[in-house]
Amino acid sequence: MDIKYAGKKINLLRCPFCNGEPTVYLNKWGRRTFKIACDNENCIMVETLFRPSLEQAAKEWNRRPWNQVPEMKEGGWNMKIDVSNDRFGTVLNCAVRYSLGRRTYMPSLVIGFIRPLLPYINGKTLYVFDQDITEQQYFGGYGDTCDAQDWMRFLADVHKEQDRRGCERYKDWRQPHHE
Ligand SMILES: [Zn+2]
Repeated sequence: MDIKYAGKKINLLRCPFCNGEPTVYLNKWGRRTFKIACDNENCIMVETLFRPSLEQAAKEWNRRPWNQVPEMKEGGWNMKIDVSNDRFGTVLNCAVRYSLGRRTYMPSLVIGFIRPLLPYINGKTLYVFDQDITEQQYFGGYGDTCDAQDWMRFLADVHKEQDRRGCERYKDWRQPHHE
């Protein structure tokens, strides 16, 4: 947020703890110095020290550790995940495989996580979802009725995405095909 102070415009971030608007304080005694604080009395945000310029105080106030972590390359914990990436897709495939047939909260958690990603993940990952969910009927089934319904709805969404892209669907070779 931009704050006007003594004719100057200065950008100050909101308080990281309470999202409150920060306040600028001027120390008029001796050398003029500035500090910035959150005035919300319930807030734990520590105010800045008095600094010789408003800009310096603002710089201290605007410091956020999560902006200071250098962007790391793959393998670092701060890497940006590319959802269309093969390895990310493989992890999703593993999550689906693990959840299929389980009678816990896991199927709905996994389906809920993946469904909004469907438009972005790669075709190979979609194909493996299709294959694994289709094949599950021959290997232990889908668990409770409500889980089975969730899986079928999810599979329908996978098919919709495959059709939208013109991707090939998994062919259930046990079923007769009419082509
Ligand atoms: Zn605050």
